[in-house]
Amino acid sequence: MNSFSRLGIKDGVAKAMTDMGWDEPTPVQTDAVPVGLEGHDILVQAQTGTGKTGTYGSIILSRIGSGYNIPSALIITPTRELALQVSEELSKLSKYTGHRCLPIYGGVNIERQAAEVKKGVDIVVGTPGRVKDLLNKKALRISKVSICVLDEADRMLDMGFAKDLDYILSWLPKKRQNMMFSATMPDEVKKLAVNKMRDPKEILVSKDEIVLDLIDQRYMIADKDTKKDALCTIFDKERQKTIVFMKMKHRCTQLGRKMKNTGYSVDVIHGDIAQNRRERVVREFKEGSIDILIATDVAARGLDIDDVGLVINYDMTDPETYVHRIGRTGRAGKRGIAYTFVLDENEEKDLRRIARVNNVEIRKVEMELVHHEANRNANPEPAKKNVPVRDREKKPRNKGEEKKRKNVPESFDMISLNLGSDDDLVKRDICDFIQISSGVKNASIGRIDLKKDVTYVEIDSKLVDKVCRSLAEYDFDGKSIVVKRMD
Ligand code: AMP
Repeated sequence: MNSFSRLGIKDGVAKAMTDMGWDEPTPVQTDAVPVGLEGHDILVQAQTGTGKTGTYGSIILSRIGSGYNIPSALIITPTRELALQVSEELSKLSKYTGHRCLPIYGGVNIERQAAEVKKGVDIVVGTPGRVKDLLNKKALRISKVSICVLDEADRMLDMGFAKDLDYILSWLPKKRQNMMFSATMPDEVKKLAVNKMRDPKEILVSKDEIVLDLIDQRYMIADKDTKKDALCTIFDKERQKTIVFMKMKHRCTQLGRKMKNTGYSVDVIHGDIAQNRRERVVREFKEGSIDILIATDVAARGLDIDDVGLVINYDMTDPETYVHRIGRTGRAGKRGIAYTFVLDENEEKDLRRIARVNNVEIRKVEMELVHHEANRNANPEPAKKNVPVRDREKKPRNKGEEKKRKNVPESFDMISLNLGSDDDLVKRDICDFIQISSGVKNASIGRIDLKKDVTYVEIDSKLVDKVCRSLAEYDFDGKSIVVKRMD
C-alpha cells in the first residue's frame, strides 16, 4: 500500500502515480480525494500547480469503469492547452486501468474529433465551445456521464462561457457527481456551485502555503523605454526558463520580434497564433530549445511546465490574474522568482493592493539596467557567422557583393495574404506577423502593398517557400491565413 492508496485511490491508479515519480499526495489531494471518493460533490479552491488534475483524475479513475462506448466522465476546461494537458496526465494515470481519454477543442477539424469520439471513450476533456458543437451535431453523447468536472471555473466565467456551461450541464443526467476547481472564489463561481451542485463540500487550499510561499516576489519601476532592457538584464542575471506575461496580443508580437533581434531565444503564444504552432512553441519551451516564452494570459492558461524559474509581469494586472501568472513558477516544490514591472506610483499602489489581497510580500528592487542593442548576438554560435571586421571595411567590388554585404536579398518573390486594412492592420503589423511566424529577418521582406482585404508582400526568393509554409500554420483572430505565391 502506498501513500496514495491509503487515501482510498484504486491500486492501479496509485501505482501509476508513483510511476510518475510522485512520492506523497499534495495537500489538495490529501484533503479532497477521500471526500470525492465517497461520491460527494466538491468545490475546491486550488491553483494550477497544486496537483488538482491528479486530485480529480484519481477520483474519476477510481470511481468509473473502463471500456464503455460512451463517456462516463466529462471534464470541461477553459482552454485547449489545458484540455490537452489534462488529457495527457489522465492517460498517464490510467496506465494500469486502461481508461480511454480524449481531448476535444476548437481550431481543429470537428469531423475528425467526432470520429475519435465514435471509436469509444471513457473520459472526455473539452473546451465549452467544442463540447457544445459536438453535442449539437449529436456526435457526442453525455447521457451516461456520472462525474462532471469544471476545471478553472473562475477563468471559464471570466471568458464568458457561463451560457455554454449551462447548456452543456443541461444535457447531463441529474444524478451525477460534480467537482468544481477554481483558483479564486468570486461570487459568480459560488453562485454556479449553488445552482449546479448538490450540497458541495468546500475544500480550501491555502494559496500561500501551496504555491506563493515558494516564489520570491519582486517589483521594479520600469517604463516603456526601459522595460525591454529590464527584461534582458533580469534574464541575463537569472538565466532560467522564463515566461513573460503581457496583456495585448500585438504587443507580445512586437516584444518577441525585438527580443529575437537582440539575440535571445524567444517565442510567442497568443490567441491569434494557430493551435499547431502554439503546441509546437510550448513543446520547444518545455524541452528547453526556447528560453523565453512571451504569452498573453489566456494563451498561457493551464500551461503545465514544472521548471519555469522566472515569471515577468511585463504589464500590471489585477490580483487574481497576478496569482495565476506567478503560479507558473514555484511549482512541484521548486523555488521561483516573479518580477512585476510598474510604470509609476499609481501602479505601485495597485501592486501593494495585490500584495495585501493575496497576503504576500512583494519586494521593491532597484538594479542597474544594461542597455541591450537590437542585433546584439547573445548566442555565440551565430556570432561566428558575422562578416569579419576586416572584410566589412573593404570597399565592395561590385553590386552583387554589396548586396551580400548588406544582407539584401538578390531577388524577391511576391506573395499574397488574405489580410488587409479591414482587419485593422497596418504595414508594420504585416511585417511583424511575417517575422514572428516564420522567423525571417526584416531585410528579407521587401515592399508591402496593403489593400482592404489582401496584402501583397515581397519576400526573399530563397526564403519564400519557408515563409509560405509558416504563414499557412497561422490563424489571425480566428481567420485561417491563406497565402499564395504570385508567379
Ligand atoms: P496541476 O495542479 O494539476 O497543474 O499539477 C501540477 C504539477 O504537479 C503537474 O506536473 C503534476 O504532474 C504534478 N503533481 C501532481 N501531483 C503530484 C504529487 N503528488 N507529487 C508530485 N508532483 C505532483
